[in-house]
Amino acid sequence: MNFRARQEKFAKTLIDERLNYFAVTHLPNVRYLCGFTGSAGVLAFSRQQTGRWKLALFTDGRYTQQAREQSVGAKVVTAKGPAVIAAAEWMFSSARKPTAVGFEAEHLSVAASRALSRAVSKLRLKPTSSLIENIRMIKDVDEVAQIRAAVNLASSVFDAVLGDIKPGVPENRIAAEIEYLSRRMGAEGMSFDTLVAAGKRSALPHGVASSNPLPASGFVILDFGVILAGYCSDMTRTVHIGQPDEASRKMYAAVLKAQLAGIEAVAAGVKTEEVDSAARKVLHKSGFGRYFTHSTGHGVGLEIHEPPGLRKAAVPTNAAKKTARKPGQVLEAGMVITIEPGVYIPGVGGVRIEDMVLVTEHGCDILTPTKKELIAI
Ligand code: ZN
Ligand code: ZN
Repeated sequence: MNFRARQEKFAKTLIDERLNYFAVTHLPNVRYLCGFTGSAGVLAFSRQQTGRWKLALFTDGRYTQQAREQSVGAKVVTAKGPAVIAAAEWMFSSARKPTAVGFEAEHLSVAASRALSRAVSKLRLKPTSSLIENIRMIKDVDEVAQIRAAVNLASSVFDAVLGDIKPGVPENRIAAEIEYLSRRMGAEGMSFDTLVAAGKRSALPHGVASSNPLPASGFVILDFGVILAGYCSDMTRTVHIGQPDEASRKMYAAVLKAQLAGIEAVAAGVKTEEVDSAARKVLHKSGFGRYFTHSTGHGVGLEIHEPPGLRKAAVPTNAAKKTARKPGQVLEAGMVITIEPGVYIPGVGGVRIEDMVLVTEHGCDILTPTKKELIAI
């Protein structure tokens, strides 16, 4: 991972934002910028009079050794009190005059920001939004390689777990198998709680696995992801126990067609909402439009849900304005996103198909190798 290139990129952003000081508190961002994977750390950027940037990683005694081994381009400081205050004091001590310190508004608690203001009264805290997340949207080659490895591992797990899907087996037993196999095959953990929803429960778009037994006949949605070297994967396949009837076949075919239309729409320069509408249109035409109740996809990387979001074009709400999830975001080569339309008919069942794709200049590479034809078990 080329941490120095990332640090340089972020330093340029800081100059654009007219910030000479910045405290990175969101741990995936700390990891992204310097390689430290511990669960407590603040990375501080401080611009010297010479124009050069100094970086320091503040952590506590539990992580001093690990931070020294992992972090690139930052000196490691063991903070006695809260790391964020130690970071502020360090920036303040090198400040030539009272100055603004940028912080991640979405990732600093009100209590922490108050403590900061009290500790270093001459600092003016300047909230920023998604500065690092915006850089993280475009994956570098090392990241794409890691993501591919995570996607392939999850895909192997899916193949291996198919044999366990039988009527009467509880959903959470299937989820447990998925998680066990993932760990056995080398995953560090799961990207999120494994979702297994069968029969009528498959109509719950985000139903976590329950103790309900798999039915004698019906859809089973399996949605899961693994973490490998910090990078997440995310895939959904829907299989059918027993032979699907005509209505179920239609439903599956419509979702698959929508998913393929979504993938077909992906390319650098295309708006995220256009990809969403490509998938949504197919479902509307086939009469399932009102049963597609979520967005078409999301970015994936060090976190399972990252910008950009692939949602319907809508009047931006206040909440959307504060995040990077603005409608109308344009896809760029190097983004890794999911395409995951679904149909959920209450009391009947649901289907979702989800792949991860890498956006390229003229289209996309489908990262998920698992087949999408309807599997009847
Ligand atoms: Zn998923
Ligand atoms: Zn997803």
